[in-house]
Amino acid sequence: MKDLTSLNELIEALEELPSIGKKSATRLALFLAKDKFRAMKLINAIENVVTNIKECTICGNFSEYEICEICYNPNREKTLAIVENPKDIMIIEESGSYKGYYFVLNHLDDEKIQKLKNLIEEKEIKEVIFAFSPSVESEARSLYLEDKLKDLGVEFSQIAQGVPTGVHFENVDINSLAKAIKLRHKI
Ligand SMILES: [Zn+2]
Repeated sequence: MKDLTSLNELIEALEELPSIGKKSATRLALFLAKDKFRAMKLINAIENVVTNIKECTICGNFSEYEICEICYNPNREKTLAIVENPKDIMIIEESGSYKGYYFVLNHLDDEKIQKLKNLIEEKEIKEVIFAFSPSVESEARSLYLEDKLKDLGVEFSQIAQGVPTGVHFENVDINSLAKAIKLRHKI
């Protein structure tokens, strides 16, 4: 229907979001069309995120500042967990089982490696933990990083295999991820 162009546009925009299908998108759009207060609240929240959230220049975590709260804190443990994306940091932080620093490695290039080395040196990191979801690629990536970082005199460890191979963290409950970090083993 032509007079529903705005509504259809909203449905299409919602459908582009991860894990939202046509059915959910339609339900959400109709809800928002009806509840103007919640719709405005959502507009406001999205606008704030777009304006305020950036990537920490040190570790790549999401932050409202140039340097995130975790990197800014000098009292964290001298360990560094390398993760695949900022969402993993949120999950691990929520578990409360880990008190060290993080580094987001979503892609590998020389600039990233240099940033990683700087962080290890500046924070006097003693242990680097590969906190990737287990897969053949992440194993290769760990080996590559180990080789690149071996001259820095750090120990390397890997999260326990409590996380099933091929399953991403977002699908793993907090408790098993917390356990996987706690039961990490040296490599
Ligand atoms: Zn940071």
